Amino acid sequence: MKVCTKCGIEKELSEFYKSPDCLLGVLPQCKTCKNKQSLKYQKLNKSKINKQRKKWYKSNSNKIKDIKQKWRESNKTKVNEYFNKYAENLADHYVKGSITKFMKGAITHSDIPQWAIDLKRIQIKIYRELYK
Ligand SMILES: [Zn+2]
Repeated sequence: MKVCTKCGIEKELSEFYKSPDCLLGVLPQCKTCKNKQSLKYQKLNKSKINKQRKKWYKSNSNKIKDIKQKWRESNKTKVNEYFNKYAENLADHYVKGSITKFMKGAITHSDIPQWAIDLKRIQIKIYRELYK
């Protein structure tokens, strides 16, 4: 257990992001606070971040394309297999992915409550039944 320096609530160590440089190997703030903080930062610095990101992508676009392409080619069957298994089992992470896609990135994976995941899973199952 560790007390978050931001909200002051005592939480399990699993509620803190890992950071090898820090005491106890985790960040002083809990995941919830850290997420809030980075969201706030992103909101305040939206244009700055976007500009930096665009610039970085522009100067590295060919390199990125190359790497992605190569990786995909050499891992084609692995990726397909993995994704199919993932999608078929409706793993939490997969369901979360479809929620964030639906929310157009307005929500992050760690912000999605379990009930929403369960609901979404049911919805996907129904769709799959309907469009078999
Ligand atoms: Zn906290």
